[in-house]
Amino acid sequence: MAQQETDEQISVDDEGFLVDTEDCEAREAAYRERGTSRPITVVGNPVLHKECADVTAFDGELARLIDDMFASQRTAEGVGLAANQIGVDLKVFVYDCMDDDGVRHVGAICNPVLEELPPAERVLDDANEGCLSVPTAYAGLARPDYAVVRGQDAKGNPVRVRGNGYFARCLQHETDHLYGYLYIDRLSKRDRKDALRQMDEGTPRYEVVPND
Ligand SMILES: [Zn+2]
Repeated sequence: MAQQETDEQISVDDEGFLVDTEDCEAREAAYRERGTSRPITVVGNPVLHKECADVTAFDGELARLIDDMFASQRTAEGVGLAANQIGVDLKVFVYDCMDDDGVRHVGAICNPVLEELPPAERVLDDANEGCLSVPTAYAGLARPDYAVVRGQDAKGNPVRVRGNGYFARCLQHETDHLYGYLYIDRLSKRDRKDALRQMDEGTPRYEVVPND
């Protein structure tokens, strides 16, 4: 007999935006407690440097992957995690991130596409950025301070996610991952080299997948 689904009622607002600011504490805990934390892939691992496959099966396996991603994100103390950061070649990312109004956002999105902003609305923010796949390194990187991503939820329903400030940065950073780009690929040669040096000199606080 099929079990009735009581939790995980994913909802969108009138404009089609994922409601990702309600019950954050409980939703994040539910995901991560069902999931198993996995080690994080780091720069140089081929899975991070190519476009991931589209999600086509919105099934229990995808739900379990999302649970594992939340568990891994928590272990590594990240604010966002793309599937290829735990070695899975699929376009899905999760996030648990504060925006610049101090509002927490928790969610998952499949097949994300960044929406183009009208040039007049593009305000660049050059805050520091880091990545679990480039452990212990940080660099300033200018990105628009507002972002909208459209894709699908874990059931395949069309959704959009929007955010400002640090959360906008997260949405852009995680979408980049799924197309094979790390934030260091957007840095100048010199800043990229410096970030890689910071990584070589540091020790990650979480388990990573060794590169061959
Ligand atoms: Zn990253």
